[in-house]
Amino acid sequence: MGASPNAGERLPALTDLPVDGFAVLADVPGARSFTPGQVRRWVLQRGASGFEDMTDLSKALRAELALRYRVRRGSPLAAHESQDGTLGLVTRLDDDRIIESVLIPEGDRRTLCISSQVGCAVACRFCASGLDGVERNLSAGEIIEQVLTAREARPGEPLTNYVFMGSGEPTHNLPAVLAAIDTMTHPDGLGIGARRITVSTVGHPDAVRRLAEVEVPFQLALSMHMPTDKGREAVMPGLGRSDVAATLEAARERFERTGRRLTIEVVVMAGVNDRDEDARAFARLLKGTPALVNLIPWNPVDGIDLAAPDATRIAALEVILQRAGLAVTVRRPRGQDVGVACGQLRRRASRAEGRG
Ligand code: SAH
Repeated sequence: MGASPNAGERLPALTDLPVDGFAVLADVPGARSFTPGQVRRWVLQRGASGFEDMTDLSKALRAELALRYRVRRGSPLAAHESQDGTLGLVTRLDDDRIIESVLIPEGDRRTLCISSQVGCAVACRFCASGLDGVERNLSAGEIIEQVLTAREARPGEPLTNYVFMGSGEPTHNLPAVLAAIDTMTHPDGLGIGARRITVSTVGHPDAVRRLAEVEVPFQLALSMHMPTDKGREAVMPGLGRSDVAATLEAARERFERTGRRLTIEVVVMAGVNDRDEDARAFARLLKGTPALVNLIPWNPVDGIDLAAPDATRIAALEVILQRAGLAVTVRRPRGQDVGVACGQLRRRASRAEGRG
C-alpha cells in the first residue's frame, strides 16, 4: 500500500481545535488580531480544505500557517451512491485507516450517520463494525471532518440531522465526541441545533449519567436490543455487565433535566427477539419511561449467521408495544444495494485497500 505524500508529517490539524482554540493562531508570525476568526470561518464555515483556499489571507501568512498546521487530517477516498439516494462517504485517515459516514436523504430530512471510532469494541453479534474489534478512537477533528465532507458532497442539499450511529461506541470515545458536538453546536462553529444531533450508545449506566451532565441537549438513543440483562450480555459481548434498570434510571433523570425524550433502539432479528413475548417483555421494562421505541429490522451482513425478521413479525411487535402505551417507529433499511447499511462499507473499502 503506497503511503500518502504527507504521511510522515504530523502537524496539528485545525479541525481538531476547539472553537475558542483558534486563538493560538494569533501567535503565528504575520497574524493580525482578526486572523483566528478569519481562519476559523474558513475551516468550519466556508469549507476550506487547504490554506490555498483562504484567499483573503496574505500568501506570506498562509505559508507561515502551513509550516505549523494542517487544515484537515483525512481526505475523501470514495463516494458510493445507492439507488435510493443514500450516499456512503469513505475517508482515508492520515494513518491510512478507513472510515465511513453515510448521508441518508428521506423526505425533507438529510441525515448524516457519523462514525466515532475505527471499528468497535462492543462486537454486537449482528453488527459489521465490531467484527475486527476496535482499531482506534477518532479525534474531534476527524469527526468534524465527516460533517464537512458530507456538506461538500451535496452542496445544494443542506444536512438536517446528525446521528452518531456509524462505526464505534461514542461513550468509549467521549472526550472527542463531546468536543466535536461542542464545535458542531457552537454558533461560531458549525452552528447546528443540538436537537438535530443524536448520540446512540449501548448505554453503560455511568456513561449515561455522564451524558446527562452535559449541558448541550442533544438527543440520546439507547441500543437496548434485548429486554433482559442476560440477553443483552449475550447479544453484545463487549458490553461487560448490563444493568438496564440503572441505565433507564439515568436516562429518566436526563429527561427530567433536558426534556429530551429517549429513543430505545431494538435491532430485530428472526428467532432472537421477534416473538410476541419479547415485545411484552420490552413493554414491561419500558412502562412509564418517556421513550420512543425504534424497531430496526436487521440488515444482513456478510459472514453473520442471523436472519432478518418477517415484516409480519415487525408489525406484530409494533402493535404490542403500542397497546402498552409506547410510541413506536420502524426504520426502513437504506443503501443496501451499495452495502452502506450499518457498517458494511468500511469493511469492504478496507478490504479493497488490502486492510482488514
Ligand atoms: N455503538 C452505538 C452506535 C453505533 S450503532 C450503539 O450501539 O448504539 C447504531 C445503531 O445501528 C445501533 O442501534 C445498532 O444496534 C444498529 N445496527 C448495527 N448493525 C446493524 C445491522 N446490521 N442491522 C440493523 N441495525 C444495526
